[in-house]
Amino acid sequence: MAKILAVTNQKGGVGKTTTAVNLSACLAVLGQRVLMIDLDPQGNATTGCGVAKRVALPTVYQILIGRSSLSETCIRTDFGFDILPANRELAGAEVELIEMGGREFRLRDALVPVQDEYDFILMDCPPALNMLTVNGLVAADAVMIPMQCEYYALEGLTDLVATLKKVRANLNSRLEIEGLLRTLFDSRSTLTQQVSSELVDHFGSKVYRTIIPRNVRLAEAPSYGKPVIAFDRLSKGAQAYKALAQEILDRRDGTVRSDATQGAEA
Ligand code: ATP
Ligand code: MG
Repeated sequence: MAKILAVTNQKGGVGKTTTAVNLSACLAVLGQRVLMIDLDPQGNATTGCGVAKRVALPTVYQILIGRSSLSETCIRTDFGFDILPANRELAGAEVELIEMGGREFRLRDALVPVQDEYDFILMDCPPALNMLTVNGLVAADAVMIPMQCEYYALEGLTDLVATLKKVRANLNSRLEIEGLLRTLFDSRSTLTQQVSSELVDHFGSKVYRTIIPRNVRLAEAPSYGKPVIAFDRLSKGAQAYKALAQEILDRRDGTVRSDATQGAEA
């Protein structure tokens, strides 16, 4: 049965989409069957893996409002994983869902028939705690939280943890924190180092060992519609996301590797 992960943080620009796209591609390279769901009307994850955001395209929007099934909407990317695309139309789902019954459970219910077809389902959530994100959190087994190690990051994290508690109490009792991922990491910054160690003090082993460095190839790859591993597989960014994918598999399988590859260690 698929492990369903929501890549989420209400803070914008912390590397959610970069993580969803690149982790999907790296897990696929490691032989995993992966579905990535773009839950953001910005559709960045969609274009980031080479799928054009055509208006006529059936997207996750049609699934949420019950007008399309998952199998009709899924697209195979060129990178060994499937995607449920999004485009601006998805912004309308927010309003339409308000009037619908079971609005928080629509994505969860839509995923039930395909749970055995995948090893991982990754959802790229928008930078907001809206009904789309709630659908993601209700469908998920766990959340992966990318964060930039800067001062306000910890404050934002407190809000997010409070939201997760509420979702757990009211809508999805099995929701866990899968892990916190340090992204856009600049090892030369003292503040980054400080925030990073506070994070580890606070969340312990929930913080992935792998660190994603700031790497220009990660920022360039989406404009070519490719995950970085297909764009520049030797770049530090590609190596880091590969190490993250391996760390996640090791955690799942309960194996801890002694040669622990740290993405691009600080
Ligand atoms: P939003 O909240 O708007 O959805 P996001 O959290 O999904 O943003 P991304 O879109 O992944 O964040 O990243 C924000 C910007 O930073 C993008 O231009 C992306 O290419 C760039 N970026 C992300 N991670 C890295 C990195 N490790 N190194 C360099 N650039 C990065
Ligand atoms: Mg994004």
